[in-house]
Amino acid sequence: MTLMLGVDLDGRDVLLVGGGAVATRRLKRFLREGARVRIVAPELHEEARALVADEGLTWRARRFRGSDLSGAWLVHVATGDPHVDRRIAERCARRRILCVNASDGVHGTARLTAQAELGDVSIAVTSTVGADPRRSLTVRDAIVDLVSDGRLPLRRRRAHRTGRVDLIGGGPGPVDLMTVRARRLIAEADVLVVDRLGPAAEVIAGLDADVEVIDVGKRPGRHPVPQEEINRIIVARAVEGRRVVRLKGGDPFVFGRGGEEVRACLSAGIAVDVTPGISSAIAVPQAAGIPVTHRGTAAAFHVVNGQGDIGDGTLAALRDETVTTVVLMGVASLHRLVAAALANGVPEDRPIAFVESGHTPQQRTTRTTVGRAVADARAVGLRNPAVIVVGEVAMAGLLVPAHDTIGAILA
Ligand code: SAH
Repeated sequence: MTLMLGVDLDGRDVLLVGGGAVATRRLKRFLREGARVRIVAPELHEEARALVADEGLTWRARRFRGSDLSGAWLVHVATGDPHVDRRIAERCARRRILCVNASDGVHGTARLTAQAELGDVSIAVTSTVGADPRRSLTVRDAIVDLVSDGRLPLRRRRAHRTGRVDLIGGGPGPVDLMTVRARRLIAEADVLVVDRLGPAAEVIAGLDADVEVIDVGKRPGRHPVPQEEINRIIVARAVEGRRVVRLKGGDPFVFGRGGEEVRACLSAGIAVDVTPGISSAIAVPQAAGIPVTHRGTAAAFHVVNGQGDIGDGTLAALRDETVTTVVLMGVASLHRLVAAALANGVPEDRPIAFVESGHTPQQRTTRTTVGRAVADARAVGLRNPAVIVVGEVAMAGLLVPAHDTIGAILA
């Protein structure tokens, strides 16, 4: 029988008997927990020696003595000799000190677990019969995998004292292009504030019915919610003590106005954090087989908002044949970008690609040149969302001859 206890070792005296590879692994684990570790071992593994020096730990370079037990909350034995380990474990039992015995197949009065921290939840796995660390690890990893799929119900059931806001980058669309951290934070959220872009629809479908979902994205025939209003919504929900996830397409800090939301939270005294996402600036060209940099072809890339003014930096990037220019939100003003490029010395035959709905089943790539871009965009009926790539990397056949996506080649 085993009672699993969550033991707080922070600042507590832990005695480690033995100095081999197992002891070293355990030493690192106890140090992560903040324990004050003492070591007794005639010899010490090189890595453990380094830790002793770095952390200023006590190491007695000799065999175990009974007096070593004084003051210890917990003892860990791994001398490499099962008889010695067992003798020390028995001695601990007589002195009522919990002892982990690392000898194969036996347990002392305490045992370590295969553990994982999932945000503010700890899970621990152990065997109730003989030690089977490999199985414990496999079970633990399977539980961790459920988190990456967003399938663990991690929401708190007791009210929080304080709310918080997480700005999360959802990537370009597919749920499996989100980070594990994003999936976990969404599973913990009480409120989800979403845009239209990115993986929102699929994520919402998997939520508990009582999670509040607020859609602030643009829709045909509907004005988007103004930024100040979004700031107000996320702050107000967090002030109520709720965990708010603000889910955005791509990365929150790439034309996502994430910086403004961070400021709004901080100035209201709300804890806020940002989880990065895969930005469409890189991932959408990639979906069409276009690397934004490529040795010998493009040494830098310039990312610009197509709705803004076309500044000198962008004109310089467009002119420089070793720079890739990536334009987001550029469909409506393509003619303006092309006119400025041509008027500023960009050759008509500079390659340009339009990648619509990257990483979705509707993905479509059109490759043309700056000179023909406007006519070709009209001919194909170019639509949002799309990333426009200007530069030599957009040339057909750079990586993949005669196909326009890597997916097409693999299919
Ligand atoms: N923060 C986002 C960008 C927001 S601006 C990011 O890092 O990706 C919105 C623009 O992103 C769109 O106008 C379009 O240019 C681009 N975009 C986002 N997702 C896209 C997709 N799946 N396919 C093509 N373009 C996309």
